[in-house]
Amino acid sequence: MRLTWRRSGRGEDRFETWLAQQHQKRVLESGVTAPGPCPDEEFLRDLARKTNRISLTDPRVDHAASCSKCMNRLLALREEVHSRRHKLVLAYAAATCLVVVLAFMSINRGKVRERSSEANMAVVSETLNLWDAGTLRGQQPSALQSVSLPARLVRVKIILPRFSAPGRYEVAVTRDQAGNDVQAHGTVTTTDNGGREEFSIDLDLRKAKAGPYFLSTTHEQDQASYYYPLQIK
Ligand SMILES: [Zn+2]
Repeated sequence: MRLTWRRSGRGEDRFETWLAQQHQKRVLESGVTAPGPCPDEEFLRDLARKTNRISLTDPRVDHAASCSKCMNRLLALREEVHSRRHKLVLAYAAATCLVVVLAFMSINRGKVRERSSEANMAVVSETLNLWDAGTLRGQQPSALQSVSLPARLVRVKIILPRFSAPGRYEVAVTRDQAGNDVQAHGTVTTTDNGGREEFSIDLDLRKAKAGPYFLSTTHEQDQASYYYPLQIK
């Protein structure tokens, strides 16, 4: 009689399995040691693993199938192989989960980065109304007006103080009132809006650290600079 292995998969024949179990039981209960030498451990291990190296016409297979001692060892080895396979399957499943989670995380991180760089590139519109602003001329301090801008790409609409002259202005964001450490600057021409001189200018403040700065406007003709305390947030 040949050992009838359980075929794995959906097409598993339960009747064959039952026959094999009945046979195993009979052999184990008989306590008989089959004629011929018992095959070595390596052979039994291969048999338990059902490797292709073993031919079912090998006389050792017949021996193992009818020897209670070999059958015992074979069943123990099969148990071992199964639990190791089970562990491998679990480890593989866990590894797969981890890969999926990591992939998901990196996709998400990419999206966050994308979103934050989009936010970084977006131009923020701000209006600074200096119509009633007290200005700082030269070193003269003033606490009348403090304006704030975000550390972003900003399109600032500036309404100049009353009595400001029309024309071209140099606009700058600086660390101090001496015009040092320029964070951003540009030149712009005013437009008259119902008696108010105003203009829009793009300032790139993305590299500016949060803190106190000065916004200066310098008229091209009279070269007088006006400084307004500015907070960058
Ligand atoms: Zn044996």
